[in-house]
Amino acid sequence: MGNTNQEPRRSRATRKKISEARKRRHAQLGHLNTPETRKKIGEAGKGRPAWNKGKRFSKKSRQKMSVAALIRFATSENHPAWKGGISFDPYPPIFNGHLKRLIKERDSYTCQLCSITEEEHYEQLSVHHIDYDKNNCAVENLITLCRACNSRVNFRRDQWLVFFTEKVQRV
Ligand SMILES: [Zn+2]
Repeated sequence: MGNTNQEPRRSRATRKKISEARKRRHAQLGHLNTPETRKKIGEAGKGRPAWNKGKRFSKKSRQKMSVAALIRFATSENHPAWKGGISFDPYPPIFNGHLKRLIKERDSYTCQLCSITEEEHYEQLSVHHIDYDKNNCAVENLITLCRACNSRVNFRRDQWLVFFTEKVQRV
């Protein structure tokens, strides 16, 4: 008796799946700034009234703005990824996990072609270079795709280039 108020119980396997997905998500998001960087950012803003004082933004637009600021930093020459960046990787050092996360965050961790989410995909989504130039890591040149769609776009490259360029401009 007395069990009527309980929530429906999830199976053990379901609970495990949920907790693993959560762990994955947490590991991916991680901390974007080191404590020093956060301190620097804090000090830089001292003494000035906050630019957003008195303004109200929705949670979604606040999130969008902070992602945009992080992308600006990640692609600026001040970012540590640019320093001592000698690598045999075909990708430049700037194209690292940090930048990929930011692009995926902008794209809501969803393939921009077939709309599968990273959670449904069961492996990390890829970040595609729209103009097929691995050295062009400008934010407008990057878009989130799943593995299948990423293979698809290797054909008819000219068409995809136009398609994604227009799509990213609408983001
Ligand atoms: Zn896809």
